Amino acid sequence: MKKRLVAVIDLETLEIKANSSFKFKCIENCGKCCMELDIPLRDEDIARIEELGYNAWEFVDYEKMFYRGDKFLGYALKKRPFDNACIFLDENKKCKIYPYRPRACRLYPFILIKHGPTLEVYIREDDFCPGINHPNGEPITPEFVRDYFNEIIEEYRRETRSI
Ligand code: SF4
Repeated sequence: MKKRLVAVIDLETLEIKANSSFKFKCIENCGKCCMELDIPLRDEDIARIEELGYNAWEFVDYEKMFYRGDKFLGYALKKRPFDNACIFLDENKKCKIYPYRPRACRLYPFILIKHGPTLEVYIREDDFCPGINHPNGEPITPEFVRDYFNEIIEEYRRETRSI
């Protein structure tokens, strides 16, 4: 998977350095990432979805696991066998649990990698996503990064403080 560094966030000072030559715009009702990707679930993602009344066995694929080296990261979100789409994608290509979707879905096509108090933001260069570097996309400025990742930056800051 090809990825490009587009921003660096200082989690203590909230200073953001960004590469605004890259653009992104999510295309409404596209849903290609909901078919092409395997989504890892954190325990917190599973708990949030269970609060909606689903049982974990309905949406967790216990046969698909994610590892970084020998470290187990989590199980995958279930896909439908007939079209390989996420089980929460509806017939209009909308997510049925959008406000409760897992962190990896909220981030796509970005990847965050934390190094101590610094968060690096990469954009994946997936051919299937028409929004990556879309001509009408939003440049990845510090303001874009602050708005787009606002909730997740706060989650990371809370996690860092509670360690
Ligand atoms: S593939 Fe890209 S443009 Fe399409 S829904 Fe996913 S993020 Fe948006």
